[in-house]
Amino acid sequence: MKDISSGDLQNNIPLVSRKDFQREVVAGGVRIGAGSPVIMAGPCTVEGRAQIFEAAKAVSEAGAHMLRGGIFKPLTFPYGDPLGQPDRGSDGPARDRMDVLAVDEMLRHAERRFGYFKEAGEKYGLPIVSEITTVRALPLMERYVDMFQVGYRHMFNFDLILALAETKKPLLLKRHYGESLRSWLGVCEHFDARGKTNYAVCERGVSVPHTHNVESRAILDVQAVPALKEYAPSVPVIIDPSHATFKRSYVAAMARAAMAAGADGLLIEVHPDPENAWVDPLQALGFSDFRRLMRQIEGIAKVLDVQK
Ligand code: PEP
Ligand code: MN
Repeated sequence: MKDISSGDLQNNIPLVSRKDFQREVVAGGVRIGAGSPVIMAGPCTVEGRAQIFEAAKAVSEAGAHMLRGGIFKPLTFPYGDPLGQPDRGSDGPARDRMDVLAVDEMLRHAERRFGYFKEAGEKYGLPIVSEITTVRALPLMERYVDMFQVGYRHMFNFDLILALAETKKPLLLKRHYGESLRSWLGVCEHFDARGKTNYAVCERGVSVPHTHNVESRAILDVQAVPALKEYAPSVPVIIDPSHATFKRSYVAAMARAAMAAGADGLLIEVHPDPENAWVDPLQALGFSDFRRLMRQIEGIAKVLDVQK
């Protein structure tokens, strides 16, 4: 993997590396990268109406600024798509997990869940961010989300890059766990070169030989924060300690480390019943852990003298 060279700064990422550029990233009225940390919190997956309303209420009362939630899940295996299951709390019959959704069915179920996801966000004053996994979902998602998340699996998906370069809504670009800052900033340059400048990047862990605990999926690259501030000073940096650690007991510590390192915000999984979350139950925080973390983050922001 190559490091960023001075030749790259001049020839390959001249727009991303601009020092005098004021980048405006605003998601549903929330400014990202403007000094005050932006905390995006909520469940991995929108499972039902009551679940997302409960999560929205709790994270907004704790001081979060945006609501996260996945509806299109980038599944490793084709079976057990949460979109195919009846909403949590409804008494519809469970679908056979081996039964794979047709595209129109997928979009229909997604629209229902985006509906109450957006309502929950509006009720509690939280713009919503959700992952897009296919360009086929773009017209639907345009009507609901305030920010598009591009997951690590899609970092280089050129169809998504071209389609998202056309949307007015801001983007959250995750780095693949095996990719360098150089190639990540290359993706950013693809957007800047097409005039799409309202995006933030999101670090969610890198794959390295483990030194301590094989249950933790990746290692959070905290050093990416100062490195990105050096190479791409206008690009807001969000840290996702949930997918980086994959382990509940590590999440708060890594979130604090990220904020102390100068991150512009966090993307963090919070669920009303974390152990029973449909997806990623090992990493979601419960409400009281999240409240405690928010108080600590406020303390860190104060020490760093970040404006509120
Ligand atoms: C997520 O945020 O729920 C997610 C699946 O993200 P990632 O692409 O980091 O795995
Ligand atoms: Mn998740």
